[in-house]
Formats: sequence, structure tokens, C-alpha cells
Amino acid sequence: MSDRPSPTAAEPEEPASPTAVRVLVLNSGSSSVKYQLLDMRDGTRLAVGLVERIGEGTSLLRHTTRTTGETRERADTFADHDAALKAMAEELAVDGVGLDSPELAAIGHRVVHGGRTFTEPTVIDAEVLAEIERLIPVAPLHNPANLTGIRTAMLLRPDLPQVAIFDTAFHTTMPEAAARYAIDVATADEHRIRRYGFHGTSHAYVSRTTADLLGKAPEEVNVIVLHLGNGASASAVRGGRCVDTSMGLTPLEGLVMGTRSGDVDPAVIFHLERVGDMSTDEIDTLLNKKSGLIGLCGDNDMREITRRIEEGDEQARLAFDIYIHRLKKYIGAYYAVLGRVDAVAFTAGVGENAAPVREAAIRGLEELGLAVDGELNAVRGGEPRLISPPYARVAVAVVPTDEELEIATQTYALVGKGGA
Ligand code: ADP
Repeated sequence: MSDRPSPTAAEPEEPASPTAVRVLVLNSGSSSVKYQLLDMRDGTRLAVGLVERIGEGTSLLRHTTRTTGETRERADTFADHDAALKAMAEELAVDGVGLDSPELAAIGHRVVHGGRTFTEPTVIDAEVLAEIERLIPVAPLHNPANLTGIRTAMLLRPDLPQVAIFDTAFHTTMPEAAARYAIDVATADEHRIRRYGFHGTSHAYVSRTTADLLGKAPEEVNVIVLHLGNGASASAVRGGRCVDTSMGLTPLEGLVMGTRSGDVDPAVIFHLERVGDMSTDEIDTLLNKKSGLIGLCGDNDMREITRRIEEGDEQARLAFDIYIHRLKKYIGAYYAVLGRVDAVAFTAGVGENAAPVREAAIRGLEELGLAVDGELNAVRGGEPRLISPPYARVAVAVVPTDEELEIATQTYALVGKGGA
């Protein structure tokens, strides 16, 4: 396939009306759909929900009305995404915020892989759908599920703008020097092998929020973002634009993660094939599902790992040390890539909550202007905050990520002009 110019010029056929102030965010997986309905006047959540085990016998829908805090659960047989989204629509209607409401401006969809084509939020039409489909070979697990969610939502509200927000888009500003692997160019191009990066919505949101926290415009600051969840990635952001990120062709590259190995010598794969007699699928499963923290110590939850370390568990200690060693290497590498760093920002489940990880990752980097204040680091909270001492040359921050708000904001910016 040849990459075509970005189709972001597509405009919604009917601009949102001044009363259309809500955005529904959908994150469709192969057997689950997560959704949030936001009021874009102040970003408040009206409803948050999840449908799990779609097509697997007994499915479960859990819907929380954010204004009242009430949670409803529904165990049912949702044979497919169509049934699941209809059930979601019913729950929203019970709350008086149904899909037929004129206040709904658009639906924003998380799409994992946008290749090189989609560099920005994009209003979805037939051509865009076809392009997301053409990208399936580079995202075989995610794009088909994302497409199913989009197609189903389009059937429910064919008249409403539907917007795709791509996990890869923020990273499309990476220079060729960072995006290309040093392999034969013709082979790489034929198979679209390059570093795309993921978690882009989070890296965009967190780097911008970090600039805010420093009281600066995104263009003025260089930030290293460490998104440490079950999946984990680092990015180097110069003046609001991504110049490098640790995930590559797939989310397997880079940091040690909950179940993924991150960087390994690619020859490990040949070795396992030749000497270990393992199939490609078995190696894929090993590196994506049975490696990282879980492969190293049997646990992938950082809470459990730090608890085991306190009890003197050597295996958990080694897993933690390997995790931190890799993280430090990426901080150093991105420091060198950026030349000047204004802030290092920790985010996602581990980054936002695991003070020992933050302390260990920054320890010993004083010569680079980096330090963590023990008391500030121990503070818990949902707000963006600094954890570096006032004298430190580089700010260290904890910035809770909010991918749904970012998807809704980008969606609304594209279609909700009438309501802005
Ligand atoms: P993902 O979205 O990639 O599934 P999250 O960003 O929700 O992941 O992060 C999940 C991980 O965060 C858990 O596996 C666990 O390791 C870590 N985590 C969550 N809460 C805490 C906590 N209080 N202390 C330490 N680690 C935590």
C-alpha cells in the first residue's frame, strides 16, 4: 500500500449545533468496549462504563452514572459488539443522556494503529475505514476490534460525526533517524516496518499538562514522558512534538512491562526457533504475555512486587532492578536525544502510584539535574504535581493521564466548533 496524504481535511457534513456539548468516547477491544460520556463545557464525566466478555457466553455490563455515583450491572448474553453497544445506549437512555440526544456532538473512537497516514484526529468516512482496514497487517490484534466498534456505532447514529483518534498519531512527528530501523530499506518499506510508537494520546496529554504545571507553553519545554502502566513506554517530546518513543513496530519494544519483555536481542527469536524448537506463535506469546515482570518474578502488579521486596523476596527484587535499569537507560537516552530537558513526567498505573519506582528511576541522576524529594514523592493524589526539590534543575512530575478526556477534547476540537 502506498501512504496517501493525511485525510484530516474531511469536515463533518453537519457541524455540531451550539447545544451539542457532549462527546461519547469508545475504546473497542476484541471482547470488550469501554465508554465514557463527557460534557465538553467542563470535561465532566456524565457516565462511565464497560462491557466485558462480548461473544463469550455471559457478558457483563457495568455502568456508572457519574452525577449520582450509582453503578448498575447487567449480566447478559451480548453476542457481538452490536448487542453490546445497544445495551450501552439503553443504559445512557436510562440516565437521560441517550445517543439520540441533540446534545451529543460526536463519537470519538480510540484506534490503535494509524500507520503513517493518520497524523491527526480524523472524521471517519468510507475511505478512512478502508485505510484503517489496510493497516490490519501491522496491528492484527487491535485494528479489527476498533473497526468493529466504529462500524457498529455508525449504524447506531449514521448522521453523527465519528472521529478516529490514533494511538500512533502523536509519534508521527518523529524524525526518520528515530523512526527507521537500521535494516534493508527496500524490505522495510515493502512491509511497512518502522517505529510507529503507541500510547500517543497519553504522551500528548501528559507532555502538555506538564508544560502547564511548569507555567509554560508546550512549545517552550522539552519533556521526557514515562507512561508506566501494564504496557509501558517512554517518549522524548521537544517543544510539544514527539522526537522519539520506546515502542516500535508493535508495543513489544522498549521498556520492561507487566508481561512484555521490551528490548531483547532479535537473535533471541532465532535461537528459540532453532535451539528451543519453539514456533513463531509460541515465541510471540512468550515475549508478549509471559515475559516482563510476570516472566521475571511471577507477578506483574507493582503493588505485589514491592510488597514481596519488603518481605525480602530476591526474585521480586531482581525483577524490580531489571525494570528500573531499563527505565534509567531510556531516561539517559532521551536526555541525550533532547539535549536539554525541562521535566521528566511519570504517568499511568505504576508511574502515578508507585513512589519506589519513581525514586529508584531518578536516584543517582543528580549530575543530570534530576532529583526526587522523598516527602513530595510520598504524597498521593489525583492532581498533577511536582516531586523534585526546588533546587533541582530539571522538574520531576507526576501527571495522571486521562486518555478519554484527550480523545474527547481532540474529537470536540474537530467537530464541535459550533458548540465551542
Ligand atoms: P493499563 O492501562 O496498561 O492496563 P494501568 O495504567 O491501569 O495499565 O496500570 C496498571 C498497573 O499499575 C498495575 O498492573 C500495577 O502494576 C500498577 N498499579 C496500580 N495501582 C498501583 C499502586 N497503588 N501502587 C503500585 N502500582 C500500582
